[in-house]
Amino acid sequence: MISTETPVYRLGEFHQFTSLERRFVYLVQSAAIFELDDLAAAIIDRLSRAHATHDELIGEVTARGFEDGAVRESVEELLDTHAILCGDAKVPDGIQDLTHIPIQTLVLNLTNQCNLSCQYCYEYGADKVATPAGKPKFMNFETAKASVDMLFQQTRRGPLQITFFGGETLMNFPLLKQVVSYAKEKATAEARSVSFSLTTNATLLLPATIDFIAENNVGVTVSIDGPKDMHDKLRVFADGRGSYDIIAPKVRELIQRHRTRPIAARVTLTSGLVDVIRIFRHLTDELGFHEVGFAPVTASSDRLYTINDPGMSGVLEQFHRLADEYQEFALRGKMHAFSNVTDTLAELHQGVNKSHPCGAGLGLVGVGPSGDIAPCHRFVDSDQHALGHISTGIDRAKQADFLNRGHIGSKYDCHTCWARPVCAGGCHHEAFVRYGDTGHPNLHYCDWIRDWTNKCLEVYGAIAAQNPEFLENFAHRRGGTGP
Ligand code: SF4
Ligand code: SF4
Repeated sequence: MISTETPVYRLGEFHQFTSLERRFVYLVQSAAIFELDDLAAAIIDRLSRAHATHDELIGEVTARGFEDGAVRESVEELLDTHAILCGDAKVPDGIQDLTHIPIQTLVLNLTNQCNLSCQYCYEYGADKVATPAGKPKFMNFETAKASVDMLFQQTRRGPLQITFFGGETLMNFPLLKQVVSYAKEKATAEARSVSFSLTTNATLLLPATIDFIAENNVGVTVSIDGPKDMHDKLRVFADGRGSYDIIAPKVRELIQRHRTRPIAARVTLTSGLVDVIRIFRHLTDELGFHEVGFAPVTASSDRLYTINDPGMSGVLEQFHRLADEYQEFALRGKMHAFSNVTDTLAELHQGVNKSHPCGAGLGLVGVGPSGDIAPCHRFVDSDQHALGHISTGIDRAKQADFLNRGHIGSKYDCHTCWARPVCAGGCHHEAFVRYGDTGHPNLHYCDWIRDWTNKCLEVYGAIAAQNPEFLENFAHRRGGTGP
């Protein structure tokens, strides 16, 4: 009920956008999106000009031709959703203890060795955080088994996910096979479900590897940077040879024979290698990838391969073009392969309102060959960021410290940003590389993130308005901020 004594109405916190000439609001507190009808838009417009008392608001909107009862009802609805606020109403961001949230995703870095020497690699490049000296190069089965046991002990319910990572993951393929077999047996014995995925540079994919991956329904992401001339600039062997000619036939075979899960490409954009559309067309039309996702390289601002501001604007402009194409596809009921849009639409559709940018240290941990537990695969082998060891379990004090610093409530600069439900300050690893603190917001890309989130909201609004059944495609997809 509205109290007529409550003096002042004002706007809540939301971001307005239009799509197909219809008006929407994205509510920051609830991460909900809804379309404004003419009446709700009139109330919002009135409060955009100035605060109003109850009588002023009802009277002025009614004077514009809306029926009195409908105006009162609409005001109540807008209050319920926090699109407008009354009196002192406020929904604060708080920092809660989240260390009790069970880990459901385990990233096993099977090795810290790699057969490529990509200059920009976060593990071996100039900005590396890993301190691998004196630690094993390859994980053994005892460590992997203890890690899987820890994952299963975290919670007795819900699906579990094991992701294999490296170095180059397939350099320790025998262990990967052992882990899949062990985890499957354990899941069967405990009537649980467990799924698997891996990331690879594809150089070591053999027919037998593909058979195993396909038979065991392992999701695959291939790190690849585009057609030969682009890919071979940085993704090279130690002697400088490019890796494209080795991987292209292997990737084609993988896509042809592994039919049960979409095969994804993950592209790292670097300075001078920012032709997003050309890369996308090559990876989808010529190699046949089902999904393609792009991420700018993570590096300090002064590295030669770091993309400068004009380069990032060019990337954004091409992202927009692919997002427009995505929208056209979706309105015709067809899925598009540009996974940067898919991942954001899934978060918007699921009403994700993040306390943290990703699951690192929250529902996900990484384990390195030494058994050190890390917030995610990118922090593996880093003494500074270890959250315990597999022999002693997760160090809850260290985990709490990592999570408290990464919590949106600790990021003062983000508190007035409408994009915070989906951004929450951005990748902890990137924050450490750029600012020396995993809890620092990634302020170097705020404008970019807000523009991109707005674009995805427009695509979402168009689909919601013209082909709402299509949104079901996003109901169960997991976010794209993991490995
Ligand atoms: S990092 Fe920037 S874009 Fe992200 S929530 Fe914070 S202020 Fe907003
Ligand atoms: S977004 Fe960054 S911190 Fe989070 S899982 Fe990915 S690499 Fe790790």
